Amino acid sequence: MLLREIKNIYHSELDAIYSKEEVNSFFYLLIEHYFDLERFILAIQPELVIDKKQETVIFQALSELKLEKPIQHIIGTAYFMDLDFKVNEHVLIPRPETEELVRWILDDHKNTAKILTILDMGTGSGCIPISLDKNLTDAKVFGLDISTDALKVAEENNALLNAGVKFYEADILSLDAETSAKELDKKFDIIISNPPYVRELEKAEMQNNVIDHEPSLALFVPDEDPLKFYSAVVNFAADHLNENGCLYLEINQYLGEETKQLLEESNFKTIELRKDMFGNDRMIKGIRK
Ligand code: GLN
Repeated sequence: MLLREIKNIYHSELDAIYSKEEVNSFFYLLIEHYFDLERFILAIQPELVIDKKQETVIFQALSELKLEKPIQHIIGTAYFMDLDFKVNEHVLIPRPETEELVRWILDDHKNTAKILTILDMGTGSGCIPISLDKNLTDAKVFGLDISTDALKVAEENNALLNAGVKFYEADILSLDAETSAKELDKKFDIIISNPPYVRELEKAEMQNNVIDHEPSLALFVPDEDPLKFYSAVVNFAADHLNENGCLYLEINQYLGEETKQLLEESNFKTIELRKDMFGNDRMIKGIRK
């Protein structure tokens, strides 16, 4: 079958669900991923034909896209901080807003002479600690998560990307009670967290591909206690950060002031709330007094 015919079928089947640009970018990403074909291939070889085996693969991806399966789950990887991370249904797909948080940390610390000790709480795919570890020479980086399945993905990424992050299985909400916390009973220079923060009442704003395919364990919090992970992280950080150590949080855009207040009521100074590229309150930094 002609490759350009397949592209037309993609549009006729998917344009009702996604924008034309999205369908184009899915199509090109898939032919690059599966057939190693560059996106300009159709311009130079408009009559390019793909074989039966390739057709099966590209039509299988089409049926998954129709079910609104995220493209990153179809190809199994997501690009974050110039690195390819393996992802599956057990971890959140790394978001561009989270890259902004990582860049903030790197801007603040990449020129420090100190060997930094860093902890990411609720690590998922490991994208935050692994990209920090790759970008900060000599840092000692740790990550924890409650989900064994997520940690398998994080460990795999750690190995694939040649990083040296140490991962622990632990629940943010009962850290001090857990045995694994003993191993974490040290002081850190930087603590980061992007915990679940989406309220049930915000579900209506979310896309089906997120609700149906990403882990609710990593996304949702009860409407009546939306900051439960933040209180736990702030308490832990108040005890486990060195003096002048930094806490960085990705936050719910509607709860900027409330989250900031948690840090103000705890042992933090110079608290800064920042917007993401979309203009939403999305991250907070606080320095431990
Ligand atoms: N930013 C993610 C979303 O909008 C949520 C991430 C989180 O809950 N930590 O789906």
